[in-house]
This record gives sequence, C-alpha cells and structure tokens, in this order.
Amino acid sequence: MSRLSPEIIRSHAGQRRKMVDEQLAARGIKDLRVLEAMSQVPRHLFAQESLRHRAYGDHPLPIGENQTISQPYIVGTMTAALGLTGEEKVLEIGTGSGYQTAVVAELARQVFTIERLNNLSRKAQKVLEALHYTNIVFKMFDGTYGWPDQAPFDAILITASAKEIPESLVNQLGEGGKLTAPVGDADEQKLVVLTKTKSRISRRELGACKFVPLIGKYGWRE
Ligand code: SAM
Repeated sequence: MSRLSPEIIRSHAGQRRKMVDEQLAARGIKDLRVLEAMSQVPRHLFAQESLRHRAYGDHPLPIGENQTISQPYIVGTMTAALGLTGEEKVLEIGTGSGYQTAVVAELARQVFTIERLNNLSRKAQKVLEALHYTNIVFKMFDGTYGWPDQAPFDAILITASAKEIPESLVNQLGEGGKLTAPVGDADEQKLVVLTKTKSRISRRELGACKFVPLIGKYGWRE
C-alpha cells in the first residue's frame, strides 16, 4: 500500500457519486461538506481487496478480525451529526479500516484515532499514509479510556457500541462539543448524539443501528 497510482485512487468515481446521491443525499443527509468528502474519499481502498467491488454498496462489509467497515449512510449520519467546520480536534474510538477516519480528516483540523486491534490499526495507517493524510494521529489501545493527554476534544466519535457511553469519554468532550455513538444492547442500538453546553449534557437519538461491540475497561468484556 506504500504506492497507489492516481488511477487506482480516482477509480470508482461513478459509484461514489451514485452512493452519495442515492444513499446519503436522498435519505436526508444535508451537510454539503460531508457529501463532498464522501464523494472524494476512495472507500474501495479501505475494503479488503476481494470485496472492493462491493465497497460502494448500501451495507457494511467485513474487514477481518470479525470487524466491519460501517455502511456509508451510517458513516454520513454520524459525521454530519458532529457539525464539523474544519477547525475541530476530533477523537475517534475504533479506527477499523480507517475509512471514517479519512472522512473526518477531510472535515476537521486534526483526528486522534484509537483502535484496540493492532492488525487493523496498522492496515489503516498504511492506507491513510499512502493517501497522504497528515492530520491523523494513531494509537493502539483500549479507547474506552479516551486520550486524556489530548483532551478536551471538540467532537468525539465512537464507532462501536456500548450499553452506556463511557463517562471517561464524555468527560473529555470540550465546551460546545458533540459526541456521537451507538448505544444499546448487543443486538440493536440507537445512534445517540450528546452536546455539552455550559457543562450540561443534552441528548438526542437519530435512529436504529447495529454495530460491533466496544470492548474494554468501560465497555463490554471480551
Ligand atoms: N469506522 C470504522 C471504519 O470506517 O472502518 C469502523 C469501525 S468498526 C465498526 C469498530 C471498531 O472498533 C473495530 O475495529 C473494533 O476493533 C474497534 N474497537 C472496539 N472496541 C474498542 C476499544 N475499546 N478501543 C478501540 N477500538 C475498539
């Protein structure tokens, strides 16, 4: 993955445009910066090579180690909920394939991303480096602790599900910040958005979803 030809990076443009029009814009995602970012980021490069032809379909895909790259609509919904303007310092828990990391890196100043599975983190780093992202910092660790040295964050994205959002992460959200996460039991969750204003937390729900579990000290047991 150290060299990617411009042709490989730019390929699948028609499928990407169709994905944005039919799966995101038509279903109510209005943030033009999110739509533009998702029409640029080459999702096929984050999928396993044998599954590249399905990378722009309306579904999640396996990425190995029993984990998944999320469905495009879910990536778009979670990212749009953060209302990024380009100035933010963002914490992502669950790097996975690195696809959503790339989308957020297009829209924010800096992304700190944590993945507990070393193989996935390494693979994601290779793709993101080959695509020349310079505003992403990686960590291999249990993300339920957050990244206290770098807190507070303007936005936090948790891409694996927990029964409750870990307090440790809510505490690392800055004033005016937003956090989005799937919350619920193992079979079904709701996408939740928290907003911190004057140290008070407001909460709204965006709909049903199904994510792999957030495993760690303040999540599910392995
Ligand atoms: N957003 C990712 C993408 O675009 O490919 C998909 C992430 S996948 C649905 C969830 C990821 O969270 C998995 O890679 C899993 O290993 C990771 N994960 C689960 N618990 C974690 C934890 N405590 N800390 C860091 N990563 C965790």
